[in-house]
Amino acid sequence: MPLTIVTGGTRGIGAAVAARLAAEGHDLVLGHRSDAASAAAVVARLEAVGVRCVAVPGDLTTDEGIEALYAAADDLGALTGVVNNAGATYRFAPLADTPADEVRRTIDVNLTAPILVARAAVHRLGRGGVIVNITSGAATIGSPGEYVHYAAAKAGLDLLTRGLGLELADRGIRVVAVAPGLIETELHTTTGDPGRVARMAPQIPLGRAGQPEEIAGAVAWLMSEEASYVTATTLRVAGGR
Ligand code: NDP
Repeated sequence: MPLTIVTGGTRGIGAAVAARLAAEGHDLVLGHRSDAASAAAVVARLEAVGVRCVAVPGDLTTDEGIEALYAAADDLGALTGVVNNAGATYRFAPLADTPADEVRRTIDVNLTAPILVARAAVHRLGRGGVIVNITSGAATIGSPGEYVHYAAAKAGLDLLTRGLGLELADRGIRVVAVAPGLIETELHTTTGDPGRVARMAPQIPLGRAGQPEEIAGAVAWLMSEEASYVTATTLRVAGGR
């Protein structure tokens, strides 16, 4: 049975990925920072599908947070996959109006943390192992006026996908990324701009925001044997944007 870590796995895109992977028979370790009761409710729903699932609290910008995730995975068995999904933005503003500590936090959570999560996976994954990084369409457009530092972090994660994918290719480990476009989750509302998704949706060529399940489908395919010849690349799931 596959055993997969999903960071940020109890809400938003990560929760949709976890639900889809559970339906495909993956045992799961979910990283989260939310309250224990809501994490337990997510675990109960996934276990009802017939897989094993544990939720591990922790901040992935700390060594302890990453170690706790892998300690839980090691208890369950041999790791086969990681979905580096946790990420955050804290405000929409030009760089000069963004506090320096917030810039650092953004780079930490969106770039340093997933790199260190991937690093810890390398010696645990065998042939057929897969690392999926959730990057962003922002990495291509740079997101001027909104969060250029977040876009730069995500572009870094795309390049990590390329470089690490090549580094691990001869070991049969694939490293891929999914770059979502505008996806309807709390990421947009926690920054204090509840109307953002509705305002931006008409600018998307397909005319709407995407749903977390549409990212989950792409992740599940990339993790499957059907994508066995896909590595060191990023798949955009962005409605044509
Ligand atoms: P949400 O805000 O809904 O979820 C973010 C997740 O990341 C939460 O589960 C959160 O955990 C977790 N997280 C944030 N910071 C940390 C941290 N320091 N340590 C551990 N976990 C953390 O966002 P989405 O579901 O929309 O985003 C998922 C990924 O998709 C992110 O990487 C995001 O950048 C990317 N993305 C999203 C897009 C969108 O339009 N929604 C577009 C492009 C990319 P908790 O809730 O427990 O705190």
